[in-house]
Amino acid sequence: MKVIIIGGVAGGASCAARLRRLDEKAEILMVERGPYVSYANCGLPYHIGGVIEKESSLLVASERTFREQFNVDCRVNCEAIKISPDKKTVDLRNVKTGKVTTESYDKLVLSPGAPSIRPPLPGIDLPGIFEVRTVPDARTIREWIETGSLFLSGMDSYSGFQTVRPKTRAVVIGGGFIGLETAENLVHRGFDVAIVEMGDQVLAPLDQEMARIVEGYVEKHGIRLALGDGVAGFKQAANGVIDVETQSGKIYPADVVILSLGVRPDTTLAKTAGLEIGQRGGIRVDEQMRTSNPDIFAVGDAVEVKDFVTGEWSLIALAGPANRQGRIAADVITGRDSRFRGSQGTSIIGLFGAAAAWTGASEKTLNRLGDKDYEKIYLYPNSHAGYYPGARPIAMKVIFRKSDGRFLGAQALGEDNVDKRISALAMALQMGATIYDLEEAELCYAPQFGSAKDPVNFSGMVAAGVLRGDMPLSHWKTAKAGFLLDVREPAELAVESVPEAVHIPIGQLRARLAELPRDREIHVICRSGQRAYYATRMLLQKGFNAKTVSGGLLSLAHNYLLDGSLN
Ligand SMILES: Cc1cc2nc3c(=O)[nH]c(=O)nc-3n(C[C@H](O)[C@H](O)[C@H](O)COP(=O)(O)OP(=O)(O)OC[C@H]3O[C@@H](n4cnc5c(N)ncnc54)[C@H](O)[C@@H]3O)c2cc1C
Repeated sequence: MKVIIIGGVAGGASCAARLRRLDEKAEILMVERGPYVSYANCGLPYHIGGVIEKESSLLVASERTFREQFNVDCRVNCEAIKISPDKKTVDLRNVKTGKVTTESYDKLVLSPGAPSIRPPLPGIDLPGIFEVRTVPDARTIREWIETGSLFLSGMDSYSGFQTVRPKTRAVVIGGGFIGLETAENLVHRGFDVAIVEMGDQVLAPLDQEMARIVEGYVEKHGIRLALGDGVAGFKQAANGVIDVETQSGKIYPADVVILSLGVRPDTTLAKTAGLEIGQRGGIRVDEQMRTSNPDIFAVGDAVEVKDFVTGEWSLIALAGPANRQGRIAADVITGRDSRFRGSQGTSIIGLFGAAAAWTGASEKTLNRLGDKDYEKIYLYPNSHAGYYPGARPIAMKVIFRKSDGRFLGAQALGEDNVDKRISALAMALQMGATIYDLEEAELCYAPQFGSAKDPVNFSGMVAAGVLRGDMPLSHWKTAKAGFLLDVREPAELAVESVPEAVHIPIGQLRARLAELPRDREIHVICRSGQRAYYATRMLLQKGFNAKTVSGGLLSLAHNYLLDGSLN
């Protein structure tokens, strides 16, 4: 059997290595248009920032590794330019010489990835405007920023005041993963960084009120955000500076511009082969990664996958799914019955020592689908036992089915151990867990690592309390217009308060019940929701119609949206 794999990075390389492990006799040819196979594109922003100093560290396995260890005919600088499914051949062009050859296949695997979106904006090809996709991209950016501005070129080794470099300015277009990661790395390299983002938030998969926390955090670390403003074009100004012009007419001068406007599945070859393209623009595959042609498989960023929670077709450009799909294609080609379960979009981004991570459905996705059968909770548990040094709060939003308690998705942000909470929750989600399962999850605990009620348990306990009716819930949007009861201590009011709230500290509540209305809903608040829950329990048992405002004052701060409305 002869298998040709097109694309030699995440999905392609994973498929080639697995194929060899499963079939020693298969003839495997892997072609890659670029100069490297199996490189760590996830590490590129950190190479630009100097965290990963050596370029060679990014090269996970070389062409030679594939030839010698895996007996794979691995060709770099080799582009597949045409597939002829009727003849079962692929035309290959040597990128350096232009020579075209034709290879036949029994099975073909496409893993061409998703190139960066590059709109035809005026000036987009000016020197100093870069994308972050490949090792050569990162190398070029490093060279550009290390050379300094035109004005200073060659001055680095001087002594005295001439060596003082003016702070250089970077503008990042797009507030997604790659944009934010590159922005952070440029800050570490001493740049003044502005991010221009057309949407009204960074990190589009997050719900907007959770993205607000990320935005506040990166702004605290010196990044300027221009949200809700798209780029109109680029102009060359004096001294090598590029003026980034936005649709609202603002100008951001930059010494370097990073384009990170998202990616689009590469379907060029798939179209030449007449393969079915899905409604989201990716190659349509079944759960065994087979395209509409049974001898052609496709994996990675180029394919559409089923969203694990909603069942919708979606585009998920992540390394984990690409690697797993590469393995599955190899399994199926060698006769195994492997299947891709769908993607939950489980993701994480590190920013200035903190992390934002999420898995499963967001509230805005459910709203877009018209799904009303869900509830959400906000909670702010400590990353580990509060009495052990170093505990940091984790801001969490957990979404679950009202009708049966099925856990649907979670988003978390914080400075300590966010990853393990979302990873545990992602696993639970894939296993079809309910919030009652989260309550009962047995997780490792010692004070420096977690709490006897881990944030994962805690989210299950709070959510289950809501569904069992122990803790009727409300959210700020409705609570703000209702009867608000603040049960915090007087000293806390000096720090932050809600003017329209009636204030009765929890310790005085039993004695002052006469001050509360019996004919209205009482929305109880405290700092995070815990004391409000205790008060709610007491009031319910005394015959009041009480509800706990989810997340208390902590959630109020980030539930204000850009337009000033409440989420
Ligand atoms: C800067 C950056 C940071 C990232 N960080 C993360 C992260 O932290 N976590 C995460 O989960 N994901 C991350 N990703 C995404 C992740 O890298 C991708 O999801 C993953 O690489 C997709 O694998 P793939 O095989 O589909 O495509 P790729 O890995 O992009 O490989 C596709 C390859 O196919 C080659 N190719 C295309 N067409 C042809 C052709 N006709 N002939 C020959 N070769 C061809 C391309 O040159 C390319 O090298 C990041 C991506 C980038 C760019």
